Parts: sequence; C-alpha cells; structure tokens
Amino acid sequence: MSLPWLEAHKNALHERLEAGRLGHAPLIQGPKGVGKRELARWLAERILCLNPAGPDPCGQCRACELMASGTHPDFFGIDIPEDRQSIPVDAIRGLIEKMQLTPSVGAARVGLFVDADAMNRNAANALLKTLEEPAPGAWLILCSDQPASLPATIRSRCQQLALRPPPLETAARWLSEICSEVDEESRSAALVLAGGAPLAACAMLEHGEFERGLSILETLVEPASDRRSGKLLDEWQHDAAGTWQWLARWLALIMKRLRGVSTVDVPMAARLPADLPAERVARLWEQALEGRRTASAGSLRQDLSLGKWLLEWDALMESRSRR
Ligand SMILES: [Zn+2]
Repeated sequence: MSLPWLEAHKNALHERLEAGRLGHAPLIQGPKGVGKRELARWLAERILCLNPAGPDPCGQCRACELMASGTHPDFFGIDIPEDRQSIPVDAIRGLIEKMQLTPSVGAARVGLFVDADAMNRNAANALLKTLEEPAPGAWLILCSDQPASLPATIRSRCQQLALRPPPLETAARWLSEICSEVDEESRSAALVLAGGAPLAACAMLEHGEFERGLSILETLVEPASDRRSGKLLDEWQHDAAGTWQWLARWLALIMKRLRGVSTVDVPMAARLPADLPAERVARLWEQALEGRRTASAGSLRQDLSLGKWLLEWDALMESRSRR
C-alpha cells in the first residue's frame, strides 16, 4: 500500500542518511494512522539495504529479500507481548544484547519500536544507556503517538521527526482509492472523525468501526424509552474503550455545532441536537474521555460507568424536551 504523503519524508531521510546526518535513534512521532510505522519500516529497510539506488531500498539485495520474508537476522521488531499491557524490561535487555553483536548481513543492526510509549518505566531506563552509547552500526527507530508519555531523557536522546496528517485533499484522494467501495459521504465523515489521519479513517471504514459509531449515534438520538438498556450496555461494554471514543467523538461534534462551527463534512452530525447547554455537554465529553482512559488501562465494570453516563445523557435530552 503506497502512502504518497510519506514521499517527502523519505527523501529528507535519504538525504540525511547520505550526508551522515541522521542520528542513530530517530523518534517518529505523530497521531495514530498517519503512517509512522510504515515510514519506520521503510527506514529500517533503507538502512539495512546493501545496495540502495536512490532514496528507496533496492528491493533485490540479500538484505531486502530477508526483510521481505521477515527473516533478516539483524532486524528486531519490539512490540507489546500478547499477554502484557506494556513492553517489559526483559524485552529491552534482550534487544540490547542482540544489538551488541556484529551484524551478520551488512554493517547495520536495527531495532524498531512500533509503540515506544508502551515501554514501562524500567524498560525505558534500560534503553537509556544504549541510546547514550550506541554500538557502532546500531540503529533504534522509535514510533510514538504519545511522545509526551515517553521519559524526557529518552526523547532528548532521539532525533525527533514529526509526522502530521497530510492535506485533507491528499488524504481524501488516497482514501477514495483504497476504500473505493465505500460511499463518499462515509469516507469524508470517517476522515474528519479520524482527525485527518488517512490510515485511521481507512481502518475505521474497513473494520466495522464506522458502522459501530453510527449505531452509537442512533442510540444517542433515540428516545430512552425505546431502548433495552441491559442488552445495549452489554454490547457497549464489549469494547468499552471504543464506545467511549465514539461517545467523545459525537459529543465533540455537538460542541462544535454549539460554537457555530460547521460540521458539514460529517453529514450525520446534523442528527445530533444543537440546543443543549454547552457546559453539560462539555462535562459529558470529558467523562467520555476519562472513560476511554480507564477502559484502555483495563479497568473493569465499564458497564456501570457507561450506564451512569447514559443516564446523564438521557436527563440532558429530557430537560431539552421539557423546555
Ligand atoms: Zn536492497
């Protein structure tokens, strides 16, 4: 999948590499779904390639073949282990050991963190020393969508590289090619709801997340009496973090409308009420963000807090019909 908005970044990285001006630990940061991992992966391939022709890895040398088959012995991807919530210190110790060995294919070894902010404190501390005194030919590429949660000591030892969402037009054109089976209205809405991040919008449309958002919108605008709350909260709890995220998104759109900001890019937002007291909407929005935070942290019984939130929302809607 080609991501055209990354080209300028690739060219800049290539030039820095050629000039020997790329630090050994680039930190690629930016919101979810703008292509950080793709750029990081490209950079790893480019660094390991034995025969780069122009900005891109050649795609033909032994290193490129090994990367394509996922068996390059000098490439180490670091991610959260399946049974864990964060990157543990053992994973970092293991990586540091491997990074100190002599490369087996070319002259470089690359460790790639797809989610560097998922390192726990001990893991981050263990990584610090390697960042300070890198072995020759050792590269660490870090990706993060929450760089602020990385220790400042880590950030300051990396070369920071910000990736932002591309211009809306570029993103919309790319999305129309990738998700051509989806109608334009949904594409445009998903792109706005994903904060302009094309890959996030694409994932939203392809994995049923967008439909889920629409069904949550439906719940918000239907009369409370039409609802079977027990069943609904069961459904909502199933992916509580995702539910909270959608509640926050829809509430954010209401706040926009209350401020008189156009939401024409998200046509379904017109179904949301635009005559609610702003501060109560803001409070519910904050609660939804807080809910998402606690749900992501693995907090249990989200059905209770979701139910409480919904009651408050219903009371708000009720007060409106009485006015
Ligand atoms: Zn190559």
